[in-house]
Amino acid sequence: MGKKKIGLTTAIFIGLLAGAVTGILFHYVVPAGVFRDEIMINGIFYVVGNGFLRLMQMLVVPLVFCSLVCGSMAMGDTQKLGKIGVKTLAFYLATTALAITAAILVAQIINPGRGLDLTGMGGAGVAEAEKIRFADTLLNIIPTNPLHALANGEMLPIILFALLVGIILAQLGESVETVGNFFSQFNDVMMQMTVIVMKMAPYGVFCLIAKNFSGIGFDAFLPLLKYMASVLLALAVQCLVVYMLMLKGFTGLNPLKFLKKFLPVMGFAFSTATSNATIPMSIDTLHKKMGVSKRISSFTIPLGATINMDGTSIMQGVAVVFAAQAFGMNLELADYLTVICTATLASIGTAGVPGVGLITLSMVFQSVGLPTEAIAIIMGIDRVLDMSRTAVNITGDAVCTTIVACQENAVNRDVFYRSDEK
Ligand code: ASP
Repeated sequence: MGKKKIGLTTAIFIGLLAGAVTGILFHYVVPAGVFRDEIMINGIFYVVGNGFLRLMQMLVVPLVFCSLVCGSMAMGDTQKLGKIGVKTLAFYLATTALAITAAILVAQIINPGRGLDLTGMGGAGVAEAEKIRFADTLLNIIPTNPLHALANGEMLPIILFALLVGIILAQLGESVETVGNFFSQFNDVMMQMTVIVMKMAPYGVFCLIAKNFSGIGFDAFLPLLKYMASVLLALAVQCLVVYMLMLKGFTGLNPLKFLKKFLPVMGFAFSTATSNATIPMSIDTLHKKMGVSKRISSFTIPLGATINMDGTSIMQGVAVVFAAQAFGMNLELADYLTVICTATLASIGTAGVPGVGLITLSMVFQSVGLPTEAIAIIMGIDRVLDMSRTAVNITGDAVCTTIVACQENAVNRDVFYRSDEK
């Protein structure tokens, strides 16, 4: 019998599990010292893991820019583009509001803050979110200098500028063919670069997870177990029930097939806790394994990574209930509605990078007068939750993208149902 070559999907999973086991062993079994701390954890794991993460991040801006220019150029029709934009936004806002409502309900059942009394807690300083006015969030979508936006990876201004360039290229047609060809060919170069970088994924994921888990002491989780369980349960409901029902209902596609094919992207999001870095992998997976046209995904995925954070708002919903109970405060229905609106709006305009959910959480707490000191407690155990919610954040983007693409007849069902393990 010939040796069966394992596919990239399986390899990423082996990397993830092996990384978790190695990290836990390093934390509890391997004695502290130069070998463990300097050579392995802060040496090899750190360099290889972050090297891989940086490679993925390197792809994001050029890939998003070129593929968006090409996508909107191919579409050409501004009305159609507008329709897709409005539909996508509606899906993103609706799923976020649904997610946070579900989270508040789950937390009301589990009561994560009951039995914990934080009323005497002193003012342990927590960084508070700068108040960003909604008007400014909207204005910031227009770049005063597009090159500045590109250099700083500001996703929404990049999206706007790329869309405009693509639409104008389509309008001017043959007279700007050279520029159009340049972007299409550069897009091919970036896709090929993505394929090459992805080959490193299993090793990168292994090192990132091993480093994270070696630093996490699980004893700290005990008092907050109910809080963690509530967040994880609500995340699971959103990902496995809400999204899958939406996918089945709107597209008729098989949800299990979707999950199986999308799992490596979720694994990558989990190991990096960075939605933004998963953009190239998400577009590539949706295209190659599920037949979702890049015309749609090159627009909706980067948009989703920035404005659609369902997992994050789930954590925020549970955190509100947790803090209200621990501080003995009673929240009314109107307060919960305020929380739902603030958390949904706060996610717009904040980039998908590690830990931003905690920063915008202070905004949510302030909106209903909850003491931000509770965030200091949650912070200690947030990493694992950050990893988990990032996986949900990007799954939401992918599900909405597939639904919108299906409605635009931009999904190749043969590719979706093809078995892909090579
Ligand atoms: N890490 C999350 C993301 O990248 C954001 C957050 O919840 O902190 O999507």
